[in-house]
Amino acid sequence: MSTAAAPVASGPSAAVRRVAVVGGGTMGNGIAQVFASSGFEVALVDARQEFVDKALATIGRNLDRVAKKQSWMPEQVAGVIQRIRGGVSLDAARDCQIVVEAVTEDSRLKRQLFEQLDQLAPADAVLASNTSSISITELGAATKRPEQVIGMHFMNPVPVMTLVEIVRGLATSDATFALVEDLAKRLGKTPVAVNDAPGFVSNRVLMPMINEAIFALHEGVATREAIDSVMKLGMNHPLGPLALADLIGLDTCLSILEVLHRGLGDDKYRPCPLLRNMVAAGWLGRKSGRGFYEYGVST
Ligand code: NAD
Repeated sequence: MSTAAAPVASGPSAAVRRVAVVGGGTMGNGIAQVFASSGFEVALVDARQEFVDKALATIGRNLDRVAKKQSWMPEQVAGVIQRIRGGVSLDAARDCQIVVEAVTEDSRLKRQLFEQLDQLAPADAVLASNTSSISITELGAATKRPEQVIGMHFMNPVPVMTLVEIVRGLATSDATFALVEDLAKRLGKTPVAVNDAPGFVSNRVLMPMINEAIFALHEGVATREAIDSVMKLGMNHPLGPLALADLIGLDTCLSILEVLHRGLGDDKYRPCPLLRNMVAAGWLGRKSGRGFYEYGVST
């Protein structure tokens, strides 16, 4: 991936230079890193300064790792970091051509945020959500520009995974879709179009598997290691489902399963009680230092 300022582009996203990423957690810091590495100016906004600082520190560590692997010059890392402005004010959206929202998976919070962003961002800006499961149509309806609201669903870890699931809400326009599809390609990603439905495609297929693995653990069918080994060695998955749940965040997994359960009205999506208990205990996976496995430091 090039680390220089964005080359002049001619596609539907040519006018995009500045991006606001709202939420700097597991996904938001990766999204900011990928945009900045592709030459875009990025405003990274989180609710508190300490979260912004943590996100910037994570990006710094991740870029150092990439630089070592890909033999970057030190000034390349510095160049990427300089393109990311951290802060706590949504005013950062005022001069951006696109906002990518990546806050906690909570539909009320996201709706409120879209309402605010609608008032702050330029009239022609696109408002995208990285939500894993929440209705894009519903987020669009919280704004006066539903045709410019779209799902831009990156995968975790963002710098590594190539898929971006692009979710069209009922009102999303063809122009918005074309812009975001083109933008994903400029980031070196592969966009795949899906329609708006609970969990889209990725989590409608993935989460029932993770939930079933948690039920298997809960019912004592096998140990955590055995469950993950079966799926790694037998199905060729790079990570077992329990380790993957820890990477995603158990609170995020629970929220997605609740959206699937409620939205599709089928009890096959009922979140496992063990998952509920672990979230209630604050065992959220890697980000809290403990989930199905233990982690030395939170990452
Ligand atoms: P996270 O808990 O790691 O981070 C969420 C961040 O949002 C936190 O830093 C929090 O402080 C911030 N935040 C909360 N309210 C805010 C507000 N009002 N303004 C600004 N920042 C606010 O969660 P995550 O895993 O990064 O998930 C973010 C989004 O990405 C969710 O919608 C999730 O479903 C989606 N997603 C997650 C994954 C994954 O594997 N974790 C993958 C794809 C998509």
